[in-house]
Amino acid sequence: MSKQLLCSALCGCATLTSFAAPSATPDVQSHNEKDPRPNILVILMDDAGYNDFGFCGDSEMSTPNIDKLVSEGRRMTDWHVSGSVSGPSRCGLLTGRYQQFFGGETNPAAEVGIPLAETLLAQPLKEAGYATAAYGKWHVGSDPDEHPNRRGFDEFYGFLGGHRNYFYSPKDTTSLTKAMQHNGKFVSFDGYLTDRLGEAAIDFIDKQHKNNTPFFVYLAYNAVHSPFQATKEDLARFEGHKRQKIAAMTWALDRSVGQVIDKLKQDGTLDNTLIFFLSDNGGDTPKDNTPLKAHKGTEFEGGHRVVGAMVWKNRIPAGKSFDGLSSSLDIYPTCLAAAGVDVKESMNLDGVDLVPYLENKKQGNPHDWLFWRIGDWHAARFNDYKLVWIDGIGDRLYNVKNNIAETDDLRESQPEIYQHMMQEIKSWETKTVKPLKGGVSSWKQVKDYMYRELLNNREPKYTNPGSYKRAKTKKLVK
Ligand code: CA
Repeated sequence: MSKQLLCSALCGCATLTSFAAPSATPDVQSHNEKDPRPNILVILMDDAGYNDFGFCGDSEMSTPNIDKLVSEGRRMTDWHVSGSVSGPSRCGLLTGRYQQFFGGETNPAAEVGIPLAETLLAQPLKEAGYATAAYGKWHVGSDPDEHPNRRGFDEFYGFLGGHRNYFYSPKDTTSLTKAMQHNGKFVSFDGYLTDRLGEAAIDFIDKQHKNNTPFFVYLAYNAVHSPFQATKEDLARFEGHKRQKIAAMTWALDRSVGQVIDKLKQDGTLDNTLIFFLSDNGGDTPKDNTPLKAHKGTEFEGGHRVVGAMVWKNRIPAGKSFDGLSSSLDIYPTCLAAAGVDVKESMNLDGVDLVPYLENKKQGNPHDWLFWRIGDWHAARFNDYKLVWIDGIGDRLYNVKNNIAETDDLRESQPEIYQHMMQEIKSWETKTVKPLKGGVSSWKQVKDYMYRELLNNREPKYTNPGSYKRAKTKKLVK
């Protein structure tokens, strides 16, 4: 990125320009004729509920395009992100490493992102000849050196922070993290952001198709994160729905995903596109995480087991769900393997290539162990077992295969498993470093209260610092 563009992004002095993606033009030539490597498309959603898609079976949401896409690959039923909030989860996905190993444990402040010593997924793919682009929410650093254009992405159209409005306002430019930008230059946009992000990705895909260049597109929608905003037309469609705004936002997301997939079909490249579809963490209120316990930001399944699927029509047989224990950390090595890039030991990746498992060439769990930690809140999976351990509050052992709702404590009946997992968590934590930002302090009191309730199978009445403080003032909680 040029210094001038970067300056524009940083000081807000850019001249506003409208970014409109040109419509796709059909092209009969496929890059597959020259380059057999697959395109790679990561569709990352924000705060989506585990049960908030039509393919989930009994969902209140309507998602025909996403349902069709998932039916062409395999739904991932035991897929976990490495962090239960946005920043840490994205740090893990984009580096392929537990973010606790480099300080990305808590949500980043505006100036703290992924250390420059880490190599983001776009970099080796770019070096291998892939055209690379990121769309939507970044949230892994807003310092100039941490800009997507300096972390391996040829193209960036999105915003640097954790959330923003779905409609444009001139006030956007007062915030570096909320302003929409195109490669460092602040831009305005018309209409609804979810639609614009998909169109921008389609424009990029179209260019690469015409250039016979394989692409890596990281399409990180801010949908369905707050603020809960939708177009009048989409809201009207769900008049009377008990979660009208979420239903309308999800409908728009489905429309946008459908348009991107239609573009691949139009180009004849869908069959050789490796697609990851997942949420960055579990749903928050009022999303539906059924049948999981709790929500975004916790170390229960509702925090980190995410709705998702993988599709690669040329390699992955369609239909049956994949139930092996797997992680968003696997996306990095899976992409490198698909692109024919050697995974070197020096990369210190924590994931594995998932495709052999999804092809049924490898059996069993891709992982025996997975670990989570944000500050005082720790968790681990060991095959079907899950240990949740909250400093100063307590711990529980569950079998999430038999008891996905995490209600039945097995510490007394399975003491050896419990001890083994506690030792392994502590051993794993010896490799972690101090978080670059201590982002849990304002949430500490209410989170401790919430965990106390949840560990005892009670539903917390207060779920944010404000409501908890008011309840404490009125002596409604001890
Ligand atoms: Ca999120």
